[in-house]
Amino acid sequence: MKFLIKKALCLLCVLCGSTCCFSLDREAFAIKNYDLNLQIDPEQHRLGARGKITLENETSTPQRLAVLQISSSLDWRAIRAGDKMLQFVTQTYTSDIDHTGSLSEAIVTLPQEVAPHATIDLNLAYEGVILLDATRLTRIGTPEDFAKNSDWDRIDEDFTAVRGAGYVAWYPIATESANLSEGDSLFEVLARWKSREARSRSHLEVALTGFRVGADENGKIPAADEPQVFFNGVRCAFQGNDNPRPLVFDCSAQSRRLDAPTLVIAKYRVLEKPGIELRYLKEHEALTAMADAAQQTAPLITEWFGPPRERAKIAELPYPDAAPFESGLVLLTPLKGRDSNFAGLTMAHQLTHASFLSFRPWIEEGLAHFAQAVYLEQLKGRQAALDYMGLHRTALTKVEPVATALASQPDENRSLVNTIDEQLYRSKAMCVWWMLRDMIGDAALKKAIASYKPEQDKDPAYMPHLIAAQTQRDLSWFFDDWLYHDRGLPEFKVDSAYAAATPTKSFMLTISLENSGTAGAEVPVAIKFAGGEVTKRIEMRAKSKATFRVETPGAPQEIRVNDGSIPESYVSDNTYKVEPAHM
Ligand SMILES: [Zn+2]
Repeated sequence: MKFLIKKALCLLCVLCGSTCCFSLDREAFAIKNYDLNLQIDPEQHRLGARGKITLENETSTPQRLAVLQISSSLDWRAIRAGDKMLQFVTQTYTSDIDHTGSLSEAIVTLPQEVAPHATIDLNLAYEGVILLDATRLTRIGTPEDFAKNSDWDRIDEDFTAVRGAGYVAWYPIATESANLSEGDSLFEVLARWKSREARSRSHLEVALTGFRVGADENGKIPAADEPQVFFNGVRCAFQGNDNPRPLVFDCSAQSRRLDAPTLVIAKYRVLEKPGIELRYLKEHEALTAMADAAQQTAPLITEWFGPPRERAKIAELPYPDAAPFESGLVLLTPLKGRDSNFAGLTMAHQLTHASFLSFRPWIEEGLAHFAQAVYLEQLKGRQAALDYMGLHRTALTKVEPVATALASQPDENRSLVNTIDEQLYRSKAMCVWWMLRDMIGDAALKKAIASYKPEQDKDPAYMPHLIAAQTQRDLSWFFDDWLYHDRGLPEFKVDSAYAAATPTKSFMLTISLENSGTAGAEVPVAIKFAGGEVTKRIEMRAKSKATFRVETPGAPQEIRVNDGSIPESYVSDNTYKVEPAHM
């Protein structure tokens, strides 16, 4: 099979007049426009697509070949340019960008060379089935249950949800192979794809066939049983259901967010309460918990992020342990059996999205996660918030070594203000917002957030400038280390500490602190003494030492640097016992 393809490619080269030993540039084109007509038969798990896409040559050389890929469970039927049927070779291409672990790849000979930055329209047709498939995860040893709860996409009679590139290539993509067993390979391939697709538009017409459930003898479907179609979290307009025509929906979207274009088809019922829109499949107690949580959380979120612009949107996933996913402004998540803790955290996040808008992920998602920590703090105290952020940080320290390995990537792509790495714009951004709040205080940070206008955000430095405007402090070093560059993490240690009794019967403790890490932070240092504890905040730049003195009323016993509010590479050396001998 491989040999045949090679031969066919060689033939293409001869026809193009180039030499045989060429490498195929799968990422030469970006797809700027999708206009697709989808026929979906949920009962048969079937998807048939026809439509037009616009390719733009993103390289500096003319291109005669274009590569188009769809999930390996779908097959190419035809590719045309205008009236001209185009020749194409198909092959199975192994790549973990799709849940099946491979793609149906079409290598298309274009009617003429496409000049750099020029575009070409192609008409295409493909079809097949989309079933639950976690092959890409199970073949690298992921336990089956876990794999299926992660790759839950499928077209099914009761519920259909397919996420796009990175999960299911249900629309054409063009990428180099991604391999889950090779570090950040999938992330890098996806990041390149997302940046090529950044301003692409899509318009879908979705026709549901075989959707007989609930139809009366005339084929009419009662409103309550009518399936709803969502594209990127936005409900598609119902066009008609006159028998024998299938149900037709019209969906359009311009990609704004970084998540994969997602199609959801379900017979949702809706619970509408002030501030929330909750779509659910069956009645259960979690619905009341969600509504209650929304009511309790709303004042805090309004205080931080302003009044809601719209309702917080949540839609139920019917798979009990499925990993939640944000599709546009809608959170897809299992609801049944979830406790009030889950309800509160979910609502804090979604209400923040409903109040505050930014197209920069570190601001939009970072603040929504920060809101979860603030919510926990209000409910259970600072330690609960720090513990929650600690869970995220575990993921972050795993990311750090990889970050160093990715030194080949331009620094600005790794910086928080530009990153499209989920770990960074969720976990790291949450910690950055928390540190900023600890440094400048609630009131100043709330003012900075309130002064943010998404339409004025034309520069990555816009938000940092708004924050700087609310404080007398110089924060430029902090922005440099955490926002504009990926400088890694701080690493704090108490070098030495000496206590001496004072004439007034108190104690003077001299502490030498070191930050051997590559990023600076203002770190809290807690000193435990006989009868109490006192905390001091010390600004520690990267690779620096500081000596300072603290007076305590009782004999100092222990020093703890970093209460967990600063992400740090190693925390096991953060406690220092003050020897009584020094007193
Ligand atoms: Zn979010």
